[in-house]
Amino acid sequence: MALNQNGLVKNISMRLKSLNFQIFKLILGLLLFTALGILVSVWTNTNQHAEKQLKKNLVLAENVFQQLLESREQQLFSSADILTSDFGFKQAIATQDKATIESVLQNHGDRIEADIMAVISLSNEVVASTTPALISGKPFPDQNIMRQVFSDGGASSLMIFEDKLYQVIMLTINAPTPIAATLLAFEMDQQLLKRLKVITKLENTISAFKHEKRLLSISTLSEAAALDALTNVDNQISWFSIYFLSESALVSRQFIVQNQQDMLIVVTLTEDMSAIFQEFYNLQANISIIALFAVMLALVFAYVLANKLSRPLISLAKIAKRISLGQYHQKLHETSQLKEVRHLSDAFETMQDNIQAREDKIIFQANHDLLTKLNNRFYIEQVLLEHLTSSISFQVVGINIFAFRNINDVFGYQNGDLCLKHIANALKKLGGQSARLTGGELLWLPDKALSITELKRIKSTLEAPLINDEVTIRPKLVFGVLTCPDDAQSLEVFFKRLNIVLDEAKKSEDKLLSFQPAFEEKYIRRLTVVTELKRALVKSDSEFRLFYQPKLSIWENKVQHVEALIRWNNDILGFVSPEEFITLAEQAGIINQVTDWVVKQAIIDAKYIQQQGIDICIAINLSAHDIANPRLLPNVLAHLENYQVAKTCLSFEITESDLVEDPVHAIAEMKRYREQGFALAIDDFGTGYSSLEYLKNLPVTALKIDKSFVLNLASETSDQSIVQTVIKLAHQFGLSVIAEGIEEQKALELLQLWQCEYAQGYHISRPIPLAELIAWHQQHQQHQWLSV
Ligand code: C2E
Ligand code: CA
Ligand code: CA
Repeated sequence: MALNQNGLVKNISMRLKSLNFQIFKLILGLLLFTALGILVSVWTNTNQHAEKQLKKNLVLAENVFQQLLESREQQLFSSADILTSDFGFKQAIATQDKATIESVLQNHGDRIEADIMAVISLSNEVVASTTPALISGKPFPDQNIMRQVFSDGGASSLMIFEDKLYQVIMLTINAPTPIAATLLAFEMDQQLLKRLKVITKLENTISAFKHEKRLLSISTLSEAAALDALTNVDNQISWFSIYFLSESALVSRQFIVQNQQDMLIVVTLTEDMSAIFQEFYNLQANISIIALFAVMLALVFAYVLANKLSRPLISLAKIAKRISLGQYHQKLHETSQLKEVRHLSDAFETMQDNIQAREDKIIFQANHDLLTKLNNRFYIEQVLLEHLTSSISFQVVGINIFAFRNINDVFGYQNGDLCLKHIANALKKLGGQSARLTGGELLWLPDKALSITELKRIKSTLEAPLINDEVTIRPKLVFGVLTCPDDAQSLEVFFKRLNIVLDEAKKSEDKLLSFQPAFEEKYIRRLTVVTELKRALVKSDSEFRLFYQPKLSIWENKVQHVEALIRWNNDILGFVSPEEFITLAEQAGIINQVTDWVVKQAIIDAKYIQQQGIDICIAINLSAHDIANPRLLPNVLAHLENYQVAKTCLSFEITESDLVEDPVHAIAEMKRYREQGFALAIDDFGTGYSSLEYLKNLPVTALKIDKSFVLNLASETSDQSIVQTVIKLAHQFGLSVIAEGIEEQKALELLQLWQCEYAQGYHISRPIPLAELIAWHQQHQQHQWLSV
């Protein structure tokens, strides 16, 4: 397939013709065509002109020739008239005085230079003549003309006597009626024709024919030339009429001067064309040279024009190729004077600029975060990779906006974005390289490694409050510092350790920490705990157990309440304290499953306790996630129903700090538990931020003072006053009080003194398994915890 396509491309390119050559060919073709056209038109025009000229010459010559003949005839007539009017001559004829007649004819003939003189009688007989051709007493050879002479009084004609052509004039001799006719003949010889030639500028030949047989020819030409002229006569004068004779180009035309009694006398005019021809040749040659010159000029012009047209196209094609290779930075600089080429080049330039702008934009978008205009994760990863492979030590600071989600929730996303931009801009000013990874997570590679003190200072500048539309946002930042390649040699490890150090930093007081290997150990531990926890939750034979810690009812000296505390023994991890895994379960989002297990187990145990005839209420610890879980309460109710356990056998403890996060929602949920009749206690009271005042609104029945205030109660007077106050206030709000962490009798006694309702602690009992609890309960039924 690929081969075929290549073949096809090759074929096309082979068939393609160069524009340059095409333009060249076109212009050249046009010019040759026009030159040829001009040549033909000039040729035909000059031809026609020459033809006309020739015709004109010949026709003019013919007229001149005829006029000359006529005027000679007139001249001859007047000469003849003188003779016929001569009285003596008339008398000699009347008297038939032959000698006188002959002498008059001779004298007169000599005077007027006539070649023949004769007298013809009325009976057509020659009376006297000066030529032996006309013998006296013999009849005149042309009877017809003599008849015409006697009837008209005269006539003129061309005649041949003794092979010579004569112009003959005949007039009657009147006395007063015609008595005879006189004849005067003048030879038409070469001399005469030469004289005519002087006027007409043409060679002329007079020929006589009888019955198409040539009798004679008199010519200004040689005899051979005259014969040639006769045979090449063409009255339709054109170029085809030309004939050649010894390097002369000749044209001959003929006209009849006389056609009488089978005798035809014609004049042939012959023009030598050589001069006209020469002129014509010169013209043709000139035009041909001009045409050749024009064609050559056209060649040069066509070449220049073709180049002019195709050069910018070639350079534009080169530019297009360059653009396709992504080299946009060269300018076009098209200098062509052609408008269209300029337009095309301008369009190319705009296209190049636009492509470049778009590509720059795409490259920018590929490497940048569009909100903050910082580099994006993709880009900074490349930078990190480069740095890591260079094995030169460098510092990376992971920057997280603390509780960024809260900023968005409280101030709105727009302000959240503003806050991010605000920090990003401040970060840019610090130099080095910075990027936004996701959300409120940024990364900064300072130009040089900074000390913790310097970083703290920078952190506080970045935390400068942002004031916008009367809203003041005070972002808190978390800094996690890694020094590579010591802390990470690969990208994967880098990002893992960055998360770890940021996680730790979040929990630290300064919210700024450098990476330590211990963090990772903790992280790995957490990871293993969560993994194992998930596994344990789906296992059929549970790794979990419930321990119970009794709560002593101080006034009744009885234990009617216990707290359920979960225990986890894992094959790999061994015993894992609930303090550790409960928090992790909350973070991993699996606390609901743990609680489900606890609730079910506690109800089963409550059933068992009940079956033992013991009246004990079990308190279950709930986390914030549990309170928010809408399925928990129905679940609890279902289990109670299922195991036939009364609601009063179950109560719940909710840590105070958990409530603080979303008090409104938590209170609403807690109300639902209260509505079902469950007792609710606030756990770890005193560790959160809530005031006692705030307690008024909580739908709880009891308050559990945190063990930190109780553990050293006997010795710490400050703890004593706190605990005493808390008890008093709780009572004012109608709440009972549980004190946990009782390790000494003294503490128990103080609590009794302050009228605290319940006491819980190792002094009474450690958390113990169910079976032990039953036994413990029986053993301690009669136990006197306090003196009354
Ligand atoms: P807590 O609810 O405050 O539970 C009381 C903790 O104090 C228990 O630790 C208990 O063993 C300990 N304690 C009781 N009396 C004394 C005393 O006199 N001295 C001292 N030093 N400690 C005493 P434990 O069992 O390790 O539980 C730790 C925390 O784990 C609990 O604190 C509770 O918040 C959580 N927890 C335990 N079981 C569960 C459970 O089933 N569900 C939930 N959500 N949390 C649980
Ligand atoms: Ca508790
Ligand atoms: Ca507690």
